[in-house]
Amino acid sequence: MKHRSALQTLILHPSSFILLAMLLFAHTASAQPATLFKDVRVFDGLTLLSQTNILVEGEKITQMGHDFAAPPGTDTIDGTGKTLLPGLIDAHAHVSGHALEDAIMAGVTTVLDMGSDTARQLPKDDASDADVFWAGRTIHMLVRGDAARPATPTSMTDTVDERLAHGSDYVNIDYLCGTASIIKRNLEATVAAAHTRGRLAVVHLHCDARVCIEAGVDGLIGDPAELDSSLMKLARARNVFVVPSLSSIYWKSGSSNAAFALDTNIIPYLPRASAQNLALRFSGDGAALSYPLAELSTKKLQQAHVHILAGTDAPNPGTAFGVSMHREMELLTNAGLTPVHALAAATGFVADAFHLRDRGHIHVGFRADLLLVSGDATTTITATRNIVAVWKRGHKLDRTAYLAKCAAERVAK
Ligand SMILES: [Zn+2]
Repeated sequence: MKHRSALQTLILHPSSFILLAMLLFAHTASAQPATLFKDVRVFDGLTLLSQTNILVEGEKITQMGHDFAAPPGTDTIDGTGKTLLPGLIDAHAHVSGHALEDAIMAGVTTVLDMGSDTARQLPKDDASDADVFWAGRTIHMLVRGDAARPATPTSMTDTVDERLAHGSDYVNIDYLCGTASIIKRNLEATVAAAHTRGRLAVVHLHCDARVCIEAGVDGLIGDPAELDSSLMKLARARNVFVVPSLSSIYWKSGSSNAAFALDTNIIPYLPRASAQNLALRFSGDGAALSYPLAELSTKKLQQAHVHILAGTDAPNPGTAFGVSMHREMELLTNAGLTPVHALAAATGFVADAFHLRDRGHIHVGFRADLLLVSGDATTTITATRNIVAVWKRGHKLDRTAYLAKCAAERVAK
């Protein structure tokens, strides 16, 4: 029998294809140069760190501080005058269309869908779309599954299983206002089923916040105006988070985000339809919600130490995927949050509330989902709009190509 060379063995043996693929992958992964952020102001997801250095190798943050040497061939970025943030996480969107691309180009590297009738939308391109976590179809309290049959506490468990089988990461509940005891029992059964399966249950808040909190929901999504001081105390005691979604309420109360849409750091990076939606003027007969009340409630939530998360409710009128997170953080600071608190509401707090343990913070071992901006976003929240660059898993996004795409689209129509 002839002796095979090592190369022949590698080529002929079936398992060698796997080995070869692994070697090629390892080569590709190591081909991406490391990135060093030098002397940069760092908001780590919760607090501001003193000026430091951050090293990214492959998909992760591997070193922080002053006591390490970057490997040869590292790309060095001068962080002087800039702030490095974790990629933003939108805690309230209804994902559709090109949401994930628009989001990431605005520095939103993860989107949490909070109810969507479309099929689960996966990133088309893992490197250049935001990650998405999914609620999927909203669970209604009176209708069984997807059929027009009355729901019961027992059927709610099946509905939760259906949602999880269709890819939901957590469940989103549409709580119907009313005093019928079946609604309350169905709500309790839904929350219990989600929790038994290790999933979160969140509710779009319309009314009866006390019933929802007492049923054990993890989060309340939407206008917090109903929450009086006793409900805020209860939310705090039960560790329930609130996503006020002020940018959407702002529009529904009769105001317009048009001025924000004209920001020269924002408008060039918006597809035409998104720009129109963001700048839309309220045309309803009467304002549906009271913005001053929502703002005041947000201020009181913060004083009551309830966890506030930033979410946009995009693509509702007056919002756009991605960029509205910058508006949301601004409105949160108008409601009394410090810029550092607003940044945490858009990064670390969201990751922690949704148990996303690999992101939302700048720590060694975490994903290199990063947003670099000019200026000091920890004192001036609007500095988050001055985007220098966005990275997802250590891969730098091509915002120049996206800018050209948006410009070409505007000319074409
Ligand atoms: Zn919503």
